[in-house]
Amino acid sequence: MRPETLNTLFADSESLEGVGPKLRKPLEKLGLTRVKDIAYHLPDRFVRRHAVTDLDEATVGENVVVGLTVMEHRASPSSRAPHRVIAQDVKGNVCALVYFGKASYTARKLFPVGEKRWIAGKLEQYDQWLQIVHPDHVAEDSAGLMGHLVEPVYPLAEGLTQPKVAHLAQQALDRAPELPEWIEPGVLARHDWADWREALRLVHRGESAAARDRLAYDELLANSLALMLVRADNRKRRGQALRGDGRLRAKLSLPFPLTGAQTRSIREIEGDVAQEAPMLRLLQGDVGSGKTVVALEAMLIAVEAGAQAAMLAPTEILARQHYQTLRDMAAPTGVTVALLTGRDKGRARESILMGLLDGSIDIIVGTHAIFQETVSYRNLGLVVIDEQHRFGVGQRLMLTRKGRVTPHCLAMTATPIPRTLTLAQYGEMEVSRLDELPPGRQAIDTRVIAIDRLSDVVDGIARHLETGQQAYWVCPMVREGEQERDDLAAAEARYAALKARFGDNVVLVHGQLKPELKDAAMERFARGEAKLLVATTVIEVGVDVPNATLMVIEQAERFGLAQLHQLRGRVGRGSEKSVCLLLRGEALSEVGRERLALMRETQDGFRLAEEDLRLRGGGELLGTRQSGDAPFRIADLEQIQRLLPVAHDDARLLIERDGGLASPRGEAARVLLYLFERDWGVQLLRGG
Ligand code: ADP
Ligand code: MG
Repeated sequence: MRPETLNTLFADSESLEGVGPKLRKPLEKLGLTRVKDIAYHLPDRFVRRHAVTDLDEATVGENVVVGLTVMEHRASPSSRAPHRVIAQDVKGNVCALVYFGKASYTARKLFPVGEKRWIAGKLEQYDQWLQIVHPDHVAEDSAGLMGHLVEPVYPLAEGLTQPKVAHLAQQALDRAPELPEWIEPGVLARHDWADWREALRLVHRGESAAARDRLAYDELLANSLALMLVRADNRKRRGQALRGDGRLRAKLSLPFPLTGAQTRSIREIEGDVAQEAPMLRLLQGDVGSGKTVVALEAMLIAVEAGAQAAMLAPTEILARQHYQTLRDMAAPTGVTVALLTGRDKGRARESILMGLLDGSIDIIVGTHAIFQETVSYRNLGLVVIDEQHRFGVGQRLMLTRKGRVTPHCLAMTATPIPRTLTLAQYGEMEVSRLDELPPGRQAIDTRVIAIDRLSDVVDGIARHLETGQQAYWVCPMVREGEQERDDLAAAEARYAALKARFGDNVVLVHGQLKPELKDAAMERFARGEAKLLVATTVIEVGVDVPNATLMVIEQAERFGLAQLHQLRGRVGRGSEKSVCLLLRGEALSEVGRERLALMRETQDGFRLAEEDLRLRGGGELLGTRQSGDAPFRIADLEQIQRLLPVAHDDARLLIERDGGLASPRGEAARVLLYLFERDWGVQLLRGG
């Protein structure tokens, strides 16, 4: 149950004055559906204004507050031309206040001739004239403007304006209750942090880096606490000890010897699942490091011990591919492997559900359809979650809390998470690392090529396909909203052009395509019938076609480093030399240039992840927040690095002393967990 003190914060944002049906949509677009979201909708930056007695004190380009006396109005001669209010300061410096369009009507009312007005706005020069275009604020006395010397600039969506958001933020702050303190007193004192409500106010007012730190710390602490509660809960849970006798694994005939890292990881997993306490282990390995085989071995251990295993994939494409790979590899062992996705309906689905219930299916592969309410297992012993970063911790929990006996859980990820973030995202897990690629892999020859050499690139593809090898062509990512259509149009146009040259050898795959068509195209490519796969980033995750040895990425500068790395990881999977061509547009930002240079320089996923962190952390203040994979909404990367270790210790001490969160500080921590929607942490506590 959510603590009552949070009720006002969790109220719908429509409860705020001025929010009607019209504002609803833009607010939703920004994720501001509750009062709390608005309170946490922090300014990007602040406009700082210089209050001057006359314009000699100001410089052009500066935001100023100044008192001016109105001399005359120069109405616009045409509807196109602006309305000018000519005014002068105390020294007689003349400045025009410029209004376009409808705003000129209000200008008449705002500026009676002969009177003095205080104006806030950006001072500009036009020919020899000083001017302020559409002043931000106009007041009759200076006091009215002194409150605007520092003004927040909020992220907006279409339909919202700064004053509107500021007004909503103010109301949300007014409603914010005083909350009990959850931060350890020592930590609070050492940083000289204000309490929660005060910190929130300061951050909207803009003067305090310390206040921002405090709010970031809250978020980090909530996360650490929740993860530790998961881990503590897991230790208490009853699982089943799975001890395989090796009889099925012995029948596998893999076409290659396992790497040392694979063998080590399998041993670690084997040790975990032999315990009654449910395993919670992350298998982290760069693209192509061979996680699938490790998963198969783990699942065979479960089957040897008389249990079933399930493998969850984030997309249909990937589920299907895993199914085929696992079925083929496992064929000599005689275990039954089945596939279940949201698309299976009717009889086919019924028969799979029966198989899971009566135990005739040993291994099930699928999308999250395999964990729906209606799916029951005879004895689920192990859950493998592939590309686990696609699933939140809460979701992950729900998946492994099916049934009375908790299955062991192996999560896999190819995302090379920087070391600083591992703690934050996977704090509750043991980690196995595949830090060694299978032998014989050659470095991928990576080149950056300007887009104006497109025809050379296409000729290169022709030569490549003639050798019998395949290729990928990745088009600009599909972005949200308006631009989504542009991106898709670009992909379709490129497909059409390539098809004109290569005919039926080309297939197109993108997110908007009907699933059946997508599968059919992927199948043709995987079987080698299609030679060139044109795609948006749907192929980013997991696709494995070793004969594809050329990757072209169009407008590569628009992709993040991590994404480029994932994409490039689709090639270089066989013994043939692979090539990756990064096509760049003409206008390249500094960061874009550096990214592409790094891609050329290294293939080390961890190195790239660290550099990605540096590039993003250094640039815009909150640059990572937009990308869906950023673990936090408030804490930026620099704060994570600096404050996470402290928050982690703070959380650990609290849980050690008061694992049930029953003390006053424990109660406060519950409030925090709800505030940051880590309530799955609290719910694990009995009576939570
Ligand atoms: P990822 O870790 O990206 O999921 P996969 O499991 O898809 O990697 O493996 C990538 C490719 O490497 C596959 O074609 C797989 O058969 C092959 N592979 C896996 N392990 C080895 C190994 N020990 N030696 C050689 N090839 C391997
Ligand atoms: Mg994989």
